[in-house]
Amino acid sequence: MSTSAHLPAESAQAPAGATRTDGTVTDRLVDANRRYASDFDDPGMDARPVLRVAVVACMDARLDLHDALGLDLGDCHTIRNAGGVVTDDVIRSLTISQRALQTRSVVLIHHTGCGLESLTEDFRIDLEMEVGQRPAWAVESFTDVDQDVRQSMQRVRTSPFLLHTDDVRGFVFDVSTGLLREVDPRD
Ligand SMILES: [Zn+2]
Repeated sequence: MSTSAHLPAESAQAPAGATRTDGTVTDRLVDANRRYASDFDDPGMDARPVLRVAVVACMDARLDLHDALGLDLGDCHTIRNAGGVVTDDVIRSLTISQRALQTRSVVLIHHTGCGLESLTEDFRIDLEMEVGQRPAWAVESFTDVDQDVRQSMQRVRTSPFLLHTDDVRGFVFDVSTGLLREVDPRD
């Protein structure tokens, strides 16, 4: 695994093992998909996650949820956005996950060095000044990652739409060690 400090240098190089050196990054992904599909066997699963768990996490590129949590194909729902924030749309996904696809545990994962820690709600104001329209969404920036995890747990636990709110746990993923640290909801 690389660290963020190496990203600029790596991104400037041709990707190792790439079958083409021209084209866009999306072309590269489509090429990779052809190789993936050539070895793909239909696992014959239905849409219900095997472990009956939904993971809500930040979109951060350094967090590989499946590797970090030992997850296999079909094991869980992964719901990701900037910050791993429990927004109305995350509640929408969790509600569908629980009521239509029978998950019952919720795992929330935020992480060290999150981009949201360097933003404030001024982001929205600056955006409005630039484009002439204020976004309907909040930035959901934060300075205390533990407190942000606790707030996310609280939003899940108090949602009236969810069937299962008894197994909701929150963690901070350390991007330098790969370890999860659980956040006590009562602190
Ligand atoms: Zn993040």
